Amino acid sequence: MNIKAKLTIGIGVLVAMIVLLVVLAVVNLQILTATDPDSPAAGPGLYRALIWISVVGVACIAIGFTMLLRLPSAINKPIKELTDAILEIANHNYEKRLNIRDSAEFAEVSRNFNRMAQRLADYHASTLAEMMAAKKYMETIINSINEPIIGLNNEMEILFVNDEALNVFGLKRNDVLRHSAQEIALRNDLLRKLIRELIGDIPQGKKEPLKIYADNKESYFQAKYMTITQTKTDNRTPEKKGYVILLKNITEFKELDSAKTTFISTISHELKTPISAILMSLRLLEDKRVGALNPEQEELSGSIKENADRLLDITGELLNMTQVESGKLQLKPKITKPIELIEYAIKANQVQAEKFNIQIEVEYPEDKINKLFVDSEKIAWVLTNLLSNAIRYSHENSRVIIGARSVGDGYIEMYVQDFGKGIDPRYHKSIFDHYFRVPGTKVQGSGLGLSISRDFVEAHNGSLTVQSELGKGSTFIMRLKS
Ligand code: ADP
Repeated sequence: MNIKAKLTIGIGVLVAMIVLLVVLAVVNLQILTATDPDSPAAGPGLYRALIWISVVGVACIAIGFTMLLRLPSAINKPIKELTDAILEIANHNYEKRLNIRDSAEFAEVSRNFNRMAQRLADYHASTLAEMMAAKKYMETIINSINEPIIGLNNEMEILFVNDEALNVFGLKRNDVLRHSAQEIALRNDLLRKLIRELIGDIPQGKKEPLKIYADNKESYFQAKYMTITQTKTDNRTPEKKGYVILLKNITEFKELDSAKTTFISTISHELKTPISAILMSLRLLEDKRVGALNPEQEELSGSIKENADRLLDITGELLNMTQVESGKLQLKPKITKPIELIEYAIKANQVQAEKFNIQIEVEYPEDKINKLFVDSEKIAWVLTNLLSNAIRYSHENSRVIIGARSVGDGYIEMYVQDFGKGIDPRYHKSIFDHYFRVPGTKVQGSGLGLSISRDFVEAHNGSLTVQSELGKGSTFIMRLKS
């Protein structure tokens, strides 16, 4: 029965009872007014009428009360059931069903509600299945990459990790997923190093390839760190979601590189002997022990000597470079006065400076400069190379300055300044790379001197920097701890 029918019947019964009550009252009143109050028929008639009025009145009150109690709850109950069910659905409980039979309207509502809940459940199951399938697919892709990958959220929890990474790190999937990478790093050296690099504890320039022993062999990996950002459709500013650490296996390149280094080192070694023999023969020619040379022959032997010297310099530079690259650079430090290194560099460049009529000026506040504890051969080589560059890249008839100064905190700076053509700021970083030469440089060279110099200085925990302005000249500054 629907609510309308229920209400109609209830109110109808109530109205009928009230009408009956009124009729009885009126009849009773008529009896009272029509009958002589002292007649014997008046008493029982009145009594009967009163009984009827009382019965009908009590029935009216009972029906009224029943309706008062039952009617609101008959309407409220299904509404409450419906509201609760809607809340369940809102909380993603798509299994919720209604079974209201009290009224036809609510029975219809509950049937429609159940149909909607079933559709939502089907939809949810299908999207969930699709999402699970997509997740599985992504995991398969990540796992099929044979380079270690780790994904972290902003709180540094490990969200995903592929099999290769587990193998390289020596970890188990269940021990890492959803765990704090920083906590795992406490007992895993490799992860600790990566996390330190990721959060910027290790300066950019110092990032060395990682040497890892896995699968019974030594491998080299280059770490790449990516910050994952996401732009929401309603918000244009990208939001940081986490990080991905990717380790690129560079073992093959390392092996090729080391083969190249060995090759260069062997060739340079092998070249040194014949070049020295050429220089020795030239010295004999210059001595005129095998007879005097005519002017043309002298000019030719001079040119041969110049080129042989250059070849010897280049082989020396290549050997130095291979020493650094193969990690075989061994420092033999001893206490050295900076002025000794300066004098060595000047002596080594004297001939060249005279050739271009370049004045070498020394700035050296003798009494204030501490001694250095360095491999004097290596640091003298650096100063010689810087002074040679200053002379080679200066204009003829100009001057260069070589000097040393204390800069506080126990540091000493040794510098070489020239007033040549200077270096474009674009190249201030690259000139320290192997084989790099500023485009358009006409003076002959190998592009190795500055890179080796920086390696030598950094091996002493020092720094080599440049200050230069086009057209005004350059200053190379080597800073070392005294
Ligand atoms: P090389 O001088 O043998 O080419 P370097 O490594 O010593 O190699 O120098 C790299 C490059 O830096 C040079 O080719 C040159 O272009 C530039 N450079 C170095 N020193 C100076 C300088 N004092 N003035 C101008 N350019 C310089």
